[in-house]
Amino acid sequence: MRIAVGGIHIECSTYNPVLNEEKDFRVVRGEELTASPYFAFLRDYEGEFLPTIHCRAIAGGPVARSTYERFKAEFLERLKPLLPLDGLYLAMHGAMYVQGMEDAEGDWITAARELVGPDCMVSASYDLHGNVSQRIIDALDMYSTYRTAPHIDVEETMRRSVKMLVESLKTGVKPVLLWAPIPVVLPGERTSTVDEPAKSLYEMMPQIDAIDGVWDTSLMVGYVWADEPRATAAAILTGTDRAILEREARRIASAYWDAREKFVFGCETGSIQECVARAVASKTSPVVLAESGDNPTGGGVGDRAEVLAELITRGATGVVFAGIADKAATEACYDAGVGAELDLSIGASLDTIGSKPVRARVRVKLLHDTTDLADRQVVVVIDGIELVLSAKRRPYHNIADFTRLGLDPKKAKIIVVKSGYLSPELAPIANPNLMALSPGVVDQFVERLERHRKQRPTYPFDKSFAYEPQVFLSARSAGR
Ligand SMILES: [Zn+2]
Repeated sequence: MRIAVGGIHIECSTYNPVLNEEKDFRVVRGEELTASPYFAFLRDYEGEFLPTIHCRAIAGGPVARSTYERFKAEFLERLKPLLPLDGLYLAMHGAMYVQGMEDAEGDWITAARELVGPDCMVSASYDLHGNVSQRIIDALDMYSTYRTAPHIDVEETMRRSVKMLVESLKTGVKPVLLWAPIPVVLPGERTSTVDEPAKSLYEMMPQIDAIDGVWDTSLMVGYVWADEPRATAAAILTGTDRAILEREARRIASAYWDAREKFVFGCETGSIQECVARAVASKTSPVVLAESGDNPTGGGVGDRAEVLAELITRGATGVVFAGIADKAATEACYDAGVGAELDLSIGASLDTIGSKPVRARVRVKLLHDTTDLADRQVVVVIDGIELVLSAKRRPYHNIADFTRLGLDPKKAKIIVVKSGYLSPELAPIANPNLMALSPGVVDQFVERLERHRKQRPTYPFDKSFAYEPQVFLSARSAGR
């Protein structure tokens, strides 16, 4: 069994003006791909896994058209000499937006299908915050997506996708793939599987998988910060019994639709001013204040300074703020050295239209020891605030991101992170967790987003309309 492996994995807010270029991706190609920890699980499956290219970046703005075209061309060039193939496994995210191109995964997957031909079985794994289209479904044979958010089942999902593919090739059984779009698209922060109603909805998935004739059950939340027609939730099923798959797709779609008004934030929320005031007054600590509109892992820019400005205005103390992406400020600190005091302009360095910088006198406390200029990070002190500045857009969602910089988040009174729902490492220490519904390109107050390309009606933008689930078969499933 000859199975090629590859894909592209990024989530792009179409509201984010900062383009993703080649330098922003971690790319593994050829033997590097199969040797990487991300794909190590492939060794557990029968079959000869043939690497192509896998490109991955943290969420952000659109992918530059030239970058996308180069990656796609390399993917196809590496795929071509591997033909004929029995199978192709695509490890995708699903919320990519390429400059001037909607349904970018549709473009990638269709190009792959055209090259491998109709006899090759193609299986894809996705992030549940991806978006799908009929074009994507038509080019695939099998599909599986994450069932947890925060995502703790990444490998499990990739395994499901590969397992189906291997089984299909071994037995010669070609499954049916179908989907039911749901006209609802909500932020991940309102659909975390830690909280209801998503928790119970996702508990349905393994139960449905257990039904004879079902291979995989997927429920997509979709990606709300993509202003594209395909941005909706969806039920997607793979299996052998078309009638059962259709029935279950309708059942999931109805259950999701019926729960639509119950999706709420899993923690206390408020404006920046309200959240900072509550954090300063808190009798318990550490308060973990998530600045959600600028969360880089959700597609935010990660360079906004409004929360910092409010903390300074309020005279907040015991604050660890990680962090703000600002290359020029970071470099100025490296030039000045530890112990130096300097006046800095902080923030609004990437998205220069959407927000305003803060001017402050800082003392340089620590410079991260690295030879990689992009990995430069510095801790500066502004009165009672220890602030991390970084040369590139990046999250601080793991404890090690802090301790590496000599910061102990557990001892802080207030921790500020650019995040939506908290990561599995930060959630347990939050006492309490507050989420600021702050402005930015991943604004959680989604009803106030501009909407040009999304389908109408879509909940929660449109509230009063009726919906009856409709199931659409993949083109390849006809006759199976
Ligand atoms: Zn996701």
